[in-house]
Amino acid sequence: MEILTSIAEMQIAARELRRGGTLALVPTMGALHAGHLSLIAAAKRDCTHVAATIFVNPLQFGPNEDFNRYPRTFEADCAALTAAGVDILFAPSAEMMIPDGATTFVEVGGISDRLDGAHRPGHFRGVATIVAKLFHIIEPDRAYFGQKDAAQLAVLRAMVHDLNFFVEIVACPIVREPDGLALSSRNRYLTTEQRIRATILHRSLDAAADLHAHGERNSQVLTATMQQMLASEPTVIVEYAAVVDPDTLLPLADTTGSALLAVAARLGETRLIDNHLLGNFE
Ligand code: AMP
Repeated sequence: MEILTSIAEMQIAARELRRGGTLALVPTMGALHAGHLSLIAAAKRDCTHVAATIFVNPLQFGPNEDFNRYPRTFEADCAALTAAGVDILFAPSAEMMIPDGATTFVEVGGISDRLDGAHRPGHFRGVATIVAKLFHIIEPDRAYFGQKDAAQLAVLRAMVHDLNFFVEIVACPIVREPDGLALSSRNRYLTTEQRIRATILHRSLDAAADLHAHGERNSQVLTATMQQMLASEPTVIVEYAAVVDPDTLLPLADTTGSALLAVAARLGETRLIDNHLLGNFE
């Protein structure tokens, strides 16, 4: 696997790869786990070549968030990406990606202020700006993102639509631990006790999804179910438990169409998110 840190070199290398077939992009912040590797596997299945990126994006972290302590495991990540068959890793520095004096940002209005965006001001502006830059630098045919970050997917789909990026966004299913906890680079922050309590996120989603499967369509009932389950773990501080439209992230009164059950909660300093997509077109 070739490792590049310069934008100019990456542009040339990506152009070369595209000449030989289709090119997939898998953006990450490193600290790779099986969730990330599932995106690589999907990219490998669909495309001739795969480029991955590792960039802990300072623009998407708030002033009191975990940018400084975000896990950085570059050597292990390179070994995992090489074993997964990635052709090129782009791992630029913050100075390379965000040059001094840069004043241009990508702002996806509305959607960026919902769910995680409501609790992390500026987060999705940071995500959209950097992903837009990666799309310009690499010009992939397809870009792979995890359903785990459902709000991020909605923001990026809107960006691609509104700004006519010539790329297909591919969403990949959430990869989970055997007990159901969604894999996340932040899970390593959890204490043993928090790790046990953290399963309440997906258990609350499962309970609501189960009700839906048995015919319940009222979002208030589904939301109350999630909230009640989450309240059974008082040390888990809920940020949101919501039933929303997966594209606009606006609240839905009922789940007769496609709907997203989404939760976010804090365990101590650690913020976790999870969701369940209800595909129901009746
Ligand atoms: P991150 O490194 O956290 O920015 O994540 C990079 C990509 O991996 C994003 O598209 C995430 O949605 C995706 N991802 C993270 N965790 C998971 C997971 N458990 N299952 C599937 N995709 C994931």
